[in-house]
This record gives sequence, C-alpha cells and structure tokens, in this order.
Amino acid sequence: MTIAIIAHDGKKAEMVQFLNENKTTLKGKNVHLIATGTTGLKAEAAGFQVEKLLSGPVGGDAQIASRLAEGKVDMIFFFRDPLDKHPHEPDIIMLLRLCDVHNIPIATNPATAGLLIKGI
Ligand code: PGA
Repeated sequence: MTIAIIAHDGKKAEMVQFLNENKTTLKGKNVHLIATGTTGLKAEAAGFQVEKLLSGPVGGDAQIASRLAEGKVDMIFFFRDPLDKHPHEPDIIMLLRLCDVHNIPIATNPATAGLLIKGI
C-alpha cells in the first residue's frame, strides 16, 4: 500500500517520532512511502525509504492530491501546524477535499495517525 506523509515545519519532529514509533509497520515490504520534499528528507535521515515529491509550498501537496485522485494513494498522514500560516493553503484544502471525495483515510495529528496505523 502507498502511504503519503506530509508534515508542516512545526510538526516535522513529531512526524519523525511517529515514524520511528511505527518502524515495524512502515518498513514492511508492502508499504511504499511517498512524501513532500522536506518531510521526505527528514524521513530518509531517520532511515526510511521514501519517494520524495516537490516541497509542499511549491506543489508537493498538489502532487499527492493528484496521485490520490488517480487511485494511487491508500492513506495519508498529514501533520498540519494549525498555529502557522501556509502560502499553499489552497493546495492543503484541495488535498483534504479530495480525501473526502475518494474516501481516503487522512490523519492530521499523531493521535489519529496512531489509530489509523493499527488498521493496516
Ligand atoms: P515539506 O512540505 O515537506 O516540503 O516541508 C510540507 C508542506 O508544507 O506541505
């Protein structure tokens, strides 16, 4: 299955912690990780194999949304920072909308992600 990971700057440390806590599942043979650029770099530095797309503000979220619309993404962990401003807010809203259009599970915080990952 393909899992997309995205973390805003204020949430990247939490994403790495989440990945490490769920290493066994996420490094499993049947999991393919894709990520926005900088989140992907952080995940790689933590020892994960990740397909890196563009950085979020220059189109990475839109790329993930596009793959999702094509049926190529099964789950998304998107740790948003609700206390920061984001120039690519329209892309973020598009991604959330397409998850609902295509009924794709998306976790926007570690607590929800922890519950979702138990369902894999
Ligand atoms: P980044 O993008 O992983 O390239 O920082 C995340 C985002 O801001 O959507």
